[in-house]
Amino acid sequence: RGCALLDCGEGTYGQMVRALGRTEALEKVVSLLFVWISHMHADHHLGLLHILSKRISLKAERPLVVIGPSKLRAWLASYSEIIGGDNRMIFIDSAELIEPQQPLASYFPENFGVQLRCCEVVHCPQAYGIVVGDCVNHWKLCYSGDTRPCEELVKIGKNSTIAIHEATLEDGMEQEAEEKAHCTISEALDICDKMNAHRTILTHFSQRYPRIPLIKSSEDRLKRVAVAFDFLRVNFKDLAQLPRTLPLLQALYPNEAPVAKAGM
Ligand SMILES: [Zn+2]
Ligand SMILES: [Zn+2]
Repeated sequence: RGCALLDCGEGTYGQMVRALGRTEALEKVVSLLFVWISHMHADHHLGLLHILSKRISLKAERPLVVIGPSKLRAWLASYSEIIGGDNRMIFIDSAELIEPQQPLASYFPENFGVQLRCCEVVHCPQAYGIVVGDCVNHWKLCYSGDTRPCEELVKIGKNSTIAIHEATLEDGMEQEAEEKAHCTISEALDICDKMNAHRTILTHFSQRYPRIPLIKSSEDRLKRVAVAFDFLRVNFKDLAQLPRTLPLLQALYPNEAPVAKAGM
């Protein structure tokens, strides 16, 4: 059916080339069905222009569906020369996917075989989380974007097959997490447990943790959990094995100490 991007930070295309090789990366860019952008922070949307301009140079046939906060539409308009104007893109405001009305409600199932649902999350103005439900194979994927613990996300993400949740900071840094509107690892795990997610993938770790995040949770707490790293690929048929990757990573990097004063 094609592929989709949930967030598209700076360097996304370069990472795709490194992961897939140039030929396959270009194929994926052409076969993109939609790109969803959670919010207007650079680490989540800056790579979109490169993807859009690549599609023009590759003469991708159909316009790309771009979903995101309304500010993204204005931002893209200011780059219309690079991205080939409005006719190369169909923009949908994430707010319209909170309670999607017709004809939008059936647009994604009919065209791409997936249901999309967004909710506002607790991070900055116009920040959203998303659930992608597959109409064919019936998996459900929830992605938090950046957020504090968010009950709305629990609601729309109920019984997700995979919940990808931000976990910017280690436990013990709750105050900083609150000030910066992010989650600690335990806060993220609590949300995914409430959601009853089959598998949880933690991501968006602060640069304090150059390789793997500092996880203080009990083994029992981590039975359904994996941590994201560059070039991680997860196949739905391997989900049973996925949590086994975490102890392996921890064994590979046993002495990881957080780097002080790095940004996030
Ligand atoms: Zn952010
Ligand atoms: Zn971020």
